[in-house]
Amino acid sequence: DQVYLNGEYLPLADAKVSVLDRGFLFGDGVYEVIPVYRGRLFRFDDHITRLNASLRAIRLDVNKTVAEWRAIFSPMLDSSKDQYIYLQITRGYAPKRDHGFPEQVLPTVFAMCSEMKPFAGRATGVKALTLEDTRWRMCNVKAITLLANLLLRQEALDQDCAEAILVRNGYVTEGAASNLFAVIDDELITPPKSNEILPGITRDVILELAEANQIRCREEVIAVEALQDASEIWVTSSTREIVPVTELDGMMVGSGKPGQVYRKMDQLFQAYKQSSA
Ligand code: PMP
Repeated sequence: DQVYLNGEYLPLADAKVSVLDRGFLFGDGVYEVIPVYRGRLFRFDDHITRLNASLRAIRLDVNKTVAEWRAIFSPMLDSSKDQYIYLQITRGYAPKRDHGFPEQVLPTVFAMCSEMKPFAGRATGVKALTLEDTRWRMCNVKAITLLANLLLRQEALDQDCAEAILVRNGYVTEGAASNLFAVIDDELITPPKSNEILPGITRDVILELAEANQIRCREEVIAVEALQDASEIWVTSSTREIVPVTELDGMMVGSGKPGQVYRKMDQLFQAYKQSSA
């Protein structure tokens, strides 16, 4: 399987970057994860728009059009399966390790395509736990600098949970690698976009589907106590899609099974996936 690195396609084992790459030394870069269903790039324009916002936020210039990105990814796609593209762009090689940006920036552009298998927890529901959100205040940027997210996810895994739900100032923000939805008083609620969450593409799709299908839905802050009383909790992401949380901090959520609104939304989401190019 070929990967893309700086204009070339080559076997993964042959794809090499310098140890002086600022991605390696500083985590100085951004990334995207784009689902590809049977060869069709899902919500491609939205992913590239978010990528461009991330690049702007870190003051990195990579001027490629949607069509140019599509041409880069096309040779790696296989229409016989579901895949996802991992795209990473760093501020590239610099001759010495210095915090300040180098004078000449030649970004490192890397992309690989992997098979995407359905996440098992979707059918059964998963356990989650709440943890203090220790991340920085630019969570809207899809930065490769993920140490806080990794520590939070691992703490969840250590406690037999699939995801950590993060709390800042008494309000839940999102998961360590997902956005958050809750059904509270028969209303679907998700925290509003801000610098404290990643503007998830899956999140956008769910909001659109709710709107189009008369599911009462609102973007509103959620206090931890309100989450503990929710009848349903979901975490959403490109690679896992919509995952029902059936246990939070050791307590059953709703009936302890994936809820009704979840089942409806998952149906809508699967149908939308099939129909969208
Ligand atoms: N928040 C965080 C912190 C994430 O890492 C992700 C993606 N894994 C998401 C939300 C979900 O975003 P998307 O639906 O675009 O995958």
